Amino acid sequence: MILRPVLGDQCSHSLASLADLDPARDVVLMMEVEAECTYVPHHGQKIALILSAMRHFADELRARGVRVEYVQLDDPANSHSFRGEVARAASRLGAVGIVATHPGEWRVLEDMRGWEAATGLPVELREDTRFLCSLDEFRRWAGDRRQLRMEFFYREMRRRTGLLMDGTAPAGGAWSFDAENRRALPAGTAPPPSMRFVPDATTQAVLALVARRFGHHFGGLDGFNWPVTADEARLALGDFVARRLPRFGDFQDAMAEGEATLFHALLSTSLNCGLLLPGEICAAAEAAWRRGEAPLNAVEGFIRQILGWREYVRGLYWLRMPRYRDLNALDARRALPEFYWTADSGMRCVDAAVAQTRDLAYAHHIQRLMVTGNFALLAGLHPDAVNAWYLAVYADAYEWVELPNVHGMALHADGGVMASKPYAASGAYINRMSDHCRHCAHDVKAATGPRACPFNFLYWDFMARHAERFANNPRLAMPLATLRKMDPARVAAMRGEARAYLDRVAPEFPA
Ligand code: FAD
Ligand code: SF4
Repeated sequence: MILRPVLGDQCSHSLASLADLDPARDVVLMMEVEAECTYVPHHGQKIALILSAMRHFADELRARGVRVEYVQLDDPANSHSFRGEVARAASRLGAVGIVATHPGEWRVLEDMRGWEAATGLPVELREDTRFLCSLDEFRRWAGDRRQLRMEFFYREMRRRTGLLMDGTAPAGGAWSFDAENRRALPAGTAPPPSMRFVPDATTQAVLALVARRFGHHFGGLDGFNWPVTADEARLALGDFVARRLPRFGDFQDAMAEGEATLFHALLSTSLNCGLLLPGEICAAAEAAWRRGEAPLNAVEGFIRQILGWREYVRGLYWLRMPRYRDLNALDARRALPEFYWTADSGMRCVDAAVAQTRDLAYAHHIQRLMVTGNFALLAGLHPDAVNAWYLAVYADAYEWVELPNVHGMALHADGGVMASKPYAASGAYINRMSDHCRHCAHDVKAATGPRACPFNFLYWDFMARHAERFANNPRLAMPLATLRKMDPARVAAMRGEARAYLDRVAPEFPA
């Protein structure tokens, strides 16, 4: 008997380790493990999503005649570690070998490396073929390039997959239509609501279990609305392509009061736990464009997120781990403010992002990058604290995708491996892309004084703090020149406000 462990983010029939499964001989092992729910205090919706997807996937396998050993969280014999459960199942079932698929996270790979010793059995670890770029291909692309820019990787992926290509040229004559994709949402525009998924008995049982065991974690369960099977995920994909994709591009970077999801896809949770494959999503989007149902700026912008960014961050993660997570290029040392959990900072943009994160386990890219991420960057919050928060609070968060996005893109903690400049912005950016400032107690135009927008004084404090480091970065030449021309007394006043504010909300860790 070959034991074939399947992890919570591997709920996919196309898994490499299931390709040659012999139902008459082999057993699939699925394990609900306490440590996986608590190594950071994951949002209850994330735990419920994964457990429900696992239980549904196990049922689907059984319906196909596969024998599944399923260890539930409440099983009194559960050792609550992957290694412990693999060893227990292997000995109980008399396995002669183990076949698994490469995990998504370094932490789990380290656990798997102990399986041979724990069981005395050979362990075959297969490539995770659910990505469009293999780890070897990414390594080859990275080669000894000094800079690993996503844009060049993305072009390579377009050529390789043929997505949005007219022969050897990019469809529409350009690789990117990003410049068209920066509109704020006009007043009165009502994005279509996302599809509703009513929890079935399996999901309800899991939600009750999560409430009982992890009710103290951040986040509410009432808003749970995630697809938990491949069939549901395909319905969500169809709904997105028909109703939101056509305007995805225009409003990709927009934020709006009371609009949590805008024209975004809400597909990352399904993709990341295996319910959908990136290829089928990109194909569906391209087909909509070829049928004339969605414009090219929307479809290209969307495909770039999946074929470009998603594949790129995964390649980068495995290329640079484990050293990557320890980088702290900007020497950021402040604690995470309490308002990342309580949504009571008084900054309307931050509180809106945190409150919807609490309620939905979701915030869209610009909220993650330009609001909570931007604040963390400007304030100099320690990358460990920020990474732990992002990993805990989003239903789609797994370290392979969370870490490069937070550490590299939002915090610039990798010193520029991922982004050629820090995504630092003052309140003016948030004001341009949202209507939050109109409802905020702070004045987005003020950089000092009692109503000053914290993003303003923190921005100039950040620029002054790192002026020397970025002196030769052409992409920061403009703000640094502006800083040099400012009245030194004004700079000192802003920096004084920044220090006083930060010492109050985010004290420094001792060096
Ligand atoms: P859409 O905006 O509709 O985009 C479509 C799809 O593209 C997403 O479903 C996702 O699979 C993919 N995608 C888009 N941007 C990225 C990106 N930068 N990296 C990888 N994939 C991308 N994404 C996660 O899946 N898990 C995370 O833990 C995560 N953490 C993030 C943290 C920060 C600080 C930032 C800036 C981004 C993070 N992202 C993460 C990327 C992105 O914000 C989410 O994938 C997206 O918001 C998910 O919502 P959606 O499905 O509606 O995405
Ligand atoms: Fe955010 Fe500043 Fe605008 Fe308030 S004024 S919503 S803090 S950017």
